[in-house]
Amino acid sequence: MNVVSTIKEVQAQVKAWRQAGYSIGLVPTMGYLHEGHQSLMAAAKKDNQKVIVTIFVNPIQFGPSEDLASYPRDLNRDKIACEQMGVDLIFCPTVNEMYDANFNSYVDVNDLTDALCGKRRPGHFKGVCTVVTKLFNITQPDRAYFGQKDAQQLAVIKRMVNDLNFDIEIVGCPIVREADGLAKSSRNSYLSESERSASVCLYQAIERAKAMIKQGEKSVTIITKVMHELITNQPLAKIDYIEFVDLTSLKSVDMLEQDSLCALAVYIGKTRLIDNFIYQHSGR
Ligand code: AMP
Repeated sequence: MNVVSTIKEVQAQVKAWRQAGYSIGLVPTMGYLHEGHQSLMAAAKKDNQKVIVTIFVNPIQFGPSEDLASYPRDLNRDKIACEQMGVDLIFCPTVNEMYDANFNSYVDVNDLTDALCGKRRPGHFKGVCTVVTKLFNITQPDRAYFGQKDAQQLAVIKRMVNDLNFDIEIVGCPIVREADGLAKSSRNSYLSESERSASVCLYQAIERAKAMIKQGEKSVTIITKVMHELITNQPLAKIDYIEFVDLTSLKSVDMLEQDSLCALAVYIGKTRLIDNFIYQHSGR
């Protein structure tokens, strides 16, 4: 496995692979890798002859009061996680390598970014789309892998790839969870022991909502009320949002009469956790 930090080194490797006729799968990450990231690597490995993992804590997707400085980092541990999965190349650039002093071009997807996390984190998806575009241009992948865990991000990237005609297949991968249901996340490392116990309330609320839906409940107001109550009962939890939106447009829905995404963001202490599930109206 090769580990490089300059764009030129990646481009040289990608050119050689392209000349040899290899297909390339890309897994963009911010590092502090866990089994969620590794599931993306496994999917990339299955579909492609070469797999590139990028590890970059992208400063332009963090708001001024967010956790850029404290975001967990451990490159040595990440190298082992990638090696285990048979990754061919890690690209871990510095901030200066990605954004030189004159950097001034951004990619901004409208509309889909007005809802959910986009509404609460202004500029976040502009930062995500810009860095993902740069990583696509640098690594020239056939396919790129993103987690359903960040459902809005996946929808926004798909829209961007379609709108800007990137010749790249975007592959969404299921959420990987801890044994008690908490979605795996690098940010889970922020949680104290009591916060870790409390954090299971997100998954419990999801399971409760799914059970209500299974029993025939269609009213978003009624379902979200129960989810709110369940989470609010947990003293360490503070709800940022719980919303049902149309799966494609991400516009709010009142009744479950179309494929929908239920997404939630909850602070456990100071740590903001997100989770979601998809309701398929056809019942598939
Ligand atoms: P991050 O390093 O948090 O930016 O995540 C990098 C990629 O891994 C994104 O596409 C995430 O959606 C995906 N990912 C993060 N956590 C999980 C998880 N628990 N299950 C599946 N994919 C995940």
